Amino acid sequence: MERIGPIIILEGPNHSKVPYSRSLFIDSGEKVLIDSGAEAKTLLNLNQEKGIGLIINTHYHPDHTTHNHLFPDTEKWINPIEFDITRTVEGVARVNGIYQEWGTLGIERWKKSLPQEMIQNLTGITGTYEYETEYVFEGVKVSFLHTPGHTSGLACPYFPEWGVVFCSDYDMTSFGPWYNGTDGDIDAFVASGKRLLSLDADTYITGHQKGIFSKQEFQKSMERYLAIIDRRDEMIERYVRQGLTFEELSNIGIFYPKKNLNNAIYRTWERIGIRKHLLRLGLTLPETTLDLVKSK
Ligand SMILES: [Zn+2]
Repeated sequence: MERIGPIIILEGPNHSKVPYSRSLFIDSGEKVLIDSGAEAKTLLNLNQEKGIGLIINTHYHPDHTTHNHLFPDTEKWINPIEFDITRTVEGVARVNGIYQEWGTLGIERWKKSLPQEMIQNLTGITGTYEYETEYVFEGVKVSFLHTPGHTSGLACPYFPEWGVVFCSDYDMTSFGPWYNGTDGDIDAFVASGKRLLSLDADTYITGHQKGIFSKQEFQKSMERYLAIIDRRDEMIERYVRQGLTFEELSNIGIFYPKKNLNNAIYRTWERIGIRKHLLRLGLTLPETTLDLVKSK
């Protein structure tokens, strides 16, 4: 367990890889857990040993709220933009693009496939924090920076006294930036990423895999990471010029490996990601027109 001043870094299984994530624990008088994707046993032990007084989620995704349900009596906060969304299964289905891609029937199917715990993780959230406001947890200062793009509400906790940022899903993995819900936004993703670099900080902690970066390392990785967006643009543009239909394009595996596209949720996110790039490239041809172009 790594520690920076009062901040303890807790790992999730398999290097905090999705469907888990890294958590932070503020070991001050108030005992605050940030995201609950760390190993269940670690969190339960910590609760027994020190007590978790408050859980704060950076955003609503299941890999960051994973173990909220293990602490039913603990107060839980999420960002103010996503609080309402997470009240209902329909709200979460919409931001995941289920409605956009598959309509109400899709939502019904999706609901049936949802594990009960996943619903509890969200409906158990009791309140919100304010963005860009300095909270002091028994002497430990932290601000929840609004860093939209990955989702519309994502917050990155910033500890100014320690020069530490928890950059959550700015995870610097080779997969690249994820903005594949209907609440994701490519331009906002880039802008928020650049904002993280502008902070007076020298320790960047990602929510998954790689872990801790110095500012210099984070800067270099961010360049590579954001460049993946341009590569996706190029790839999609090339396929469209070749005359592929939207259906064909969404079967190639621009974001996810082709073999994963049989999975309904990956397929949904693949389609949404492609739509966002088409829009950005000014290739807003409706699917039917794309079909026509090809049949000519
Ligand atoms: Zn996420």
